[in-house]
Amino acid sequence: MNMEPCVIGIDFGKTNVRFAIAGEQPELKYFTKRPYLRRAPEDIHRQIFEGIDAALQEAGYEHSAVRGIGIDVPAVVNRETGVILWGPDWDFMAGASLTKPIAARYGVPVVADVDPVMATWGEQWAGVGKTCKRFAVLTWGTGLGAGLVIDGEVQEYPDNLFPEFGHSRVSDDDWPCKCGATGCIDTLVCGGGIARHGRLAVEAGRHSLLRDLCGNAAEKVTSPMVFEAAQRGDAVAIAILERVAVLLGRLCGNLVLTMQPEKIVIVGGLTDRCGWVLDTINRTMHDNCWLLFKGLTKCEVVASELGDQAGVLGAIRKVQLKTGASIK
Ligand SMILES: [Zn+2]
Repeated sequence: MNMEPCVIGIDFGKTNVRFAIAGEQPELKYFTKRPYLRRAPEDIHRQIFEGIDAALQEAGYEHSAVRGIGIDVPAVVNRETGVILWGPDWDFMAGASLTKPIAARYGVPVVADVDPVMATWGEQWAGVGKTCKRFAVLTWGTGLGAGLVIDGEVQEYPDNLFPEFGHSRVSDDDWPCKCGATGCIDTLVCGGGIARHGRLAVEAGRHSLLRDLCGNAAEKVTSPMVFEAAQRGDAVAIAILERVAVLLGRLCGNLVLTMQPEKIVIVGGLTDRCGWVLDTINRTMHDNCWLLFKGLTKCEVVASELGDQAGVLGAIRKVQLKTGASIK
């Protein structure tokens, strides 16, 4: 049995939950990912207990080795009480404390926060933060989350809030966003938006591989289909992703105007699918931001090197720092 002190990180996505264990250093001793049930608070707590107990057993740790537990969730959390405030995919948890039953069971500090904040902590500790004191994070997937690190400090705002420029209104389209507004960049560039661009192309009778991939049923087009078609050279799919990359590049240019980051790191699966998306984002950012094209500052948009571990790493770091869960 491993008696060394450790901290547990948990990261709830929309469909999967990840469990990880680390010691003092930003290196995971254990990592696993599995689907989870979104039903009621007691189901979430039960799945956390089972996941922690299995992680400790499989990694060979005693329960007494645990010094703290950090949880990354797709919802806004009261940072003091761990009560879930709101989140489009986590409404069933609203009003319930995520952290209290866990702290009671394991007798250690437990902290929870929303996913872009945790991903930013992860990048600050284990990713670009190792070489960069001033950077922005974009979590690009089913939504577009954001985080900022200025002078080495992760920016957490009052009232449990955090940077929200993923909901910048950039379009006159009436596409409704889950935030309640319309025309947010989130609705245009994320999984749902990319699928919707693909559906519209199929409905318009455009000649595209997408028609084959969805069996000529426009409503079945998904964002992975658009990426697959683009990778196979389909002009319609490439145009959709070019448009998405241009919008992201403009957002990055605005970020440079606002905070002059050394880097903007994109966390999430989508950048891995097509390397040239990142090139288009960088070129557009540069060509649309006078601080860059006049050479007054520099910034590079990069893909995260943490894969899908940014969330658990951030959760671990946050509980280490915020609760004094020192493992030295
Ligand atoms: Zn929005």
